Amino acid sequence: MEDCLFCRIVRGELPAAKVAESETCLAFRDIAPKSPVHVLVIPKVHYASLEEVPDASVFGAMSMLAQQVARQEGVATRGYRCVVNTGEDGGQTVGHLHLHLLGGRAHGWPPG
Ligand code: 5GP
Ligand code: ZN
Repeated sequence: MEDCLFCRIVRGELPAAKVAESETCLAFRDIAPKSPVHVLVIPKVHYASLEEVPDASVFGAMSMLAQQVARQEGVATRGYRCVVNTGEDGGQTVGHLHLHLLGGRAHGWPPG
C-alpha cells in the first residue's frame, strides 16, 4: 500500500519509536499515548483491519510480539490491555491492522 501510514513506517519512510520487531511484525510507540505504556503492534504486511486477515497466523504473530513487548516494558506482571479497533463502530482511524497494548495504569471495564 503506497501511502498507508503504517506501511510507510514499516518501510522506514516515516519515523517511529520502535520498541520491538519480529520477522513478520513491528511494535512502536503510539504518537498520542492514552496510557503510560501505549505500543502499537502491526503486521508488516498490509491488512486494512482484522476483517481482512486470512488465517490465524497473522494475529497469532501479533499476540506473541505483544507478549514480548509487555514483558520488555515491565507491565506483564501487573497486567495490560490489548485492543483491536475494527471499522467505523470499532473506532478504527488508521486503515492498517494494529493492536494497541496499553499498560502502566489500571484500565477500567467496560471502556468508555
Ligand atoms: P485506531 O484509532 O485506528 O485504533 O488507532 C490508531 C492509533 O494510531 C491512534 O492511537 C493514533 O494515536 C496512532 N497514530 C496515528 N498516526 C500515527 C503516527 O504517525 N505514528 C504513530 N506512532 N502513531 C500514530
Ligand atoms: Zn498499510
